[in-house]
Amino acid sequence: MPASSLTPDSRPKVARVVVDVSLDKVFDYAVPSELADRLHVGSQVTVPFGRRDAEGFVVGLAASSAFADLKSVKAVKDDRPLVDPKLMRLAEWMAGYYAAPIEAAVRTVLPGAVRRKGSGFRKQLFAYPTEKAGEEAAQADLRKRAPRQAAALDILLSGSEMLVSDLVRAARVTHATVRGLEASGFLRIEESVLGRDPLAGQTFLRTKPLRLNEEQKAALAKITAGLDRETAGVVLLHGVTGSGKTEVYLQALQHTLDTGRDAIVLVPEIALTPQTVERFRGRFGEGLAVLHSHLSDGERHDEWYRIRNGEARIVVGARSALFAPVKRLGLIVVDEEHEGTYKQEEAPRYHARDMAVMRGHLEGAMVVLGSATPSVESMVNVRRGKYELARLDLRADDRRLPVMRVVDMKHEKYEGRPVLFSNDLVEGIRLRLTRAEQVILFLNRRGYSHNLCCPECGHIPECPDCSVSLTFHKRLGYLRCHLCGHAERVPESCPSCSAKDWKYVGTGTEKIESTICKLFPQARVKRMDSDTMTSKHAYQHVLGSFRKGEIDILIGTQMIAKGLHFPNVTLVGVINADGTLHMPDFRSGERAFQLFTQVAGRAGRGDVAGEVILQTYTPTHPAVQAARRGAYDTFIDQEIEFRRELEYPPFTHMICVHLRGPDERQVEFTAEQLFRELERFVDENNVRLAPPAAAAIAKIQRNFRFQILARADRVSDFTRPYRHVLKHMTLPGKVQVILDVDAVSLF
Ligand code: ADP
Ligand code: ZN
Repeated sequence: MPASSLTPDSRPKVARVVVDVSLDKVFDYAVPSELADRLHVGSQVTVPFGRRDAEGFVVGLAASSAFADLKSVKAVKDDRPLVDPKLMRLAEWMAGYYAAPIEAAVRTVLPGAVRRKGSGFRKQLFAYPTEKAGEEAAQADLRKRAPRQAAALDILLSGSEMLVSDLVRAARVTHATVRGLEASGFLRIEESVLGRDPLAGQTFLRTKPLRLNEEQKAALAKITAGLDRETAGVVLLHGVTGSGKTEVYLQALQHTLDTGRDAIVLVPEIALTPQTVERFRGRFGEGLAVLHSHLSDGERHDEWYRIRNGEARIVVGARSALFAPVKRLGLIVVDEEHEGTYKQEEAPRYHARDMAVMRGHLEGAMVVLGSATPSVESMVNVRRGKYELARLDLRADDRRLPVMRVVDMKHEKYEGRPVLFSNDLVEGIRLRLTRAEQVILFLNRRGYSHNLCCPECGHIPECPDCSVSLTFHKRLGYLRCHLCGHAERVPESCPSCSAKDWKYVGTGTEKIESTICKLFPQARVKRMDSDTMTSKHAYQHVLGSFRKGEIDILIGTQMIAKGLHFPNVTLVGVINADGTLHMPDFRSGERAFQLFTQVAGRAGRGDVAGEVILQTYTPTHPAVQAARRGAYDTFIDQEIEFRRELEYPPFTHMICVHLRGPDERQVEFTAEQLFRELERFVDENNVRLAPPAAAAIAKIQRNFRFQILARADRVSDFTRPYRHVLKHMTLPGKVQVILDVDAVSLF
C-alpha cells in the first residue's frame, strides 16, 4: 500500500511485511508507536512468525488492516531503510507484472550479499607511523636495540600506512615485532574498513571527452534536454558499430553527474569485458562501481554500500545492476538493448530493458537504449511515439564498415564432398597471415562435431536425461550433453545395431580449430568457448594476448561476437550461418540479423578496411541479405510487418506457462487440466490460448516439459485469471508450474 493511503497526521499503524521464510504472501503487523518513526517502506524488521522470530521487509504501510488481532513488529534493523522506497515500488510493480512472488521481487532488488546477515565489511588492521618514528635519535636507538623492529619500521616509513599483514610479510617479521613497535610508540595500529575493490591492482589511463561529430552532438542533445527537464523519457540510440555510441554515453553520464545526479549503465554480461570497464573507468575513475557475476559476495557487498553512500555515482554492470541503490537517479543506459540475455530466466522473469524503462519512469530519469541493431520491440515503440530516436549512421573514426561477402556453400565441394571452409575463406585467411593481420572465426556451436551417427542404422546417441543428441568432444574423447552436462565415453559399437563405426555429423569449434591448424600449421590459433574458458582469467588472458598480437586466428562462439575492439582484425569468418538462421522461433530471423551484424562489427576497426565472409547454404535468406547490405531499415520494416500480420510481439504479449515433472503422463494431464481451467476464466476477446504441447526440447534432466502459450493484449488480461485458477487448483506435488511473461526463449 503506498504511503499516500495514510491521512496526513496519522503515523502508520500497520506494516505489510514479506517474511523471509514464506512465499508470495504479505503479512500485516501492528506498528508499535515507539517504532513508528524508524519504520519505513523498505525497512528490514524482526517479526514474530509462528513460534519464532523471522526477518522480513516492509513492503507497504497502511492506516488499518482487514485482519484483527495483529501481532506487532518487534524490531527495526536500521534507521534508514535497506531498500529504497522507490526501488520497493519497482519490486512491487515487477511482482505484479510478471506474476511473481513479491518476495522474489524483493530478493531481486536487494543482493543476497547485503541481505544475508554476517556478510559485513571486512575489517583490517592498518599500521600508521607516529611522529616519533621520524625522529633520527629514536631510530638510531631502535636500530641498536631491536634491529628487526627497525627494519620493519623502515619499510613502513617508505610509504604512509600499511596493512599490518602486508608489513609482516614485507619485513619478514612476526606480529609480535609489529606489536613491539606499537608498544614503544613508533606506530599506531587502527582497525578500518577495507573496500574490496574488484578493480584493485589495475591501472587505468584517464581519458578526456572527445570532440563530438554532428550526429553525436544531436544525439547527446536529445539526452541532455531530458536530463535538464528532469523528466522521464526514453531515447533509442541507433548507431552502427563503431559510430561512437559509447562516447555519447560517456558525455551523457558526465552531464548527469554535473547536474548532481547518478547513473546506471547496463551491458550484457558477456560484453562486460575489461575493455568495456576500462572505457568507463578511464573517464570516471574511482567514482565508478562495477557489478558483475564474477564478484565475490564480499566485493558485491562493498560495492553496494559504496553506491548507497554516494561514493560511487556511476554503476556499470550486467542485468542486476539495474537495481543499484543510487541516490538520485538521472540516467540509465542500456547498451546492446536488443540482447536476449537481458531477460532473466528465473523468477521473477523480468526483462532488464523493460524494467529500466519502468525504473526511469518511476524515478523521473532518462533512459538511453543503445544498439547497432535495435530490437523490433524498441523500434515499434519509436514508431508509436513512446521513444525518441537518435541515429548515428557514420563510423566515428571515419573507418568504412566492413564489406560482407556471402558464400553459397552448396557450390563449395572438394572431390564431390562438402567442405568446412570455402575457397574464399581459406584464401582470405592466408592473405591476412602473410600481412600479419588477425582473423576471427565464428561458430555458434562448441564441441568437435555436432553428434555421432551410426552409418548402418542411423542411430544417434542421445542424453539419457534430456531429449537432445550428445555432442562429440574429441580431445576428451567424450560425448556430452550441452543441457545438463552429462558425459559418457563414445560407445565402441552402436547400441542399436552393433555396427563398429561412427560417422561424425556437423561441426563444432573444436573441429574448426583442428582443421585450421592442419591448413595453417604456422599460424598461432586459439579457441574461445565455454569449454576452454572456464575461468574469467582465462578469458582475460586470451583477449590480452590476442590484443598484443600473440594470436593470429581466434576461433569462438558468441563469446567473441560482442563488444570487442581489436584494430588489427581485418577478416571475420562466419563458418555456418545456418545454425543461427533456422531455429524454431519467431525471433530467429531477427537474432540472426543481429548476430551477423555484431560479428561483422569486429572487423575493420583499425586502419585497414575489414572484410566479413559468411558461409551459408541459404544465401538468399532475408536476414543474410540484409546483414550483407547493412540494410537495417529494410529488414526492420519487413520484420515489423511480419510480426503484425502473424500477431507476434510486440503486437501482443507472449506468455508461456511451463509445466515440468518427472512423470510424463502426469505433466501432460496437469497441463490439459490447467488449460481447460484457463479457457473458462480468460476472456477470449483479448487472450488467445494455444492448447498444451510438448516443449521443443521435450525432456531436460529427466523432467518432461509441456507448455501452454498465450497471447494477450494486456498482460493482466492473462495473469489475473491465471492467478485465480492456480489458487483454486491442486497441483500434483511433482509438477512444477512456471510462468514466463513476455517470454524471450520458447524452449
Ligand atoms: P560504438 O560504441 O558505437 O561501437 P565506439 O564508441 O566504440 O563506437 O567508437 C568507435 C571508435 O571511434 C572508438 O575508438 C572511439 O574512441 C572513436 N570515437 C568515438 N567518437 C569519436 C569522435 N567524436 N571523434 C573521434 N573518434 C571518436
Ligand atoms: Zn542431458
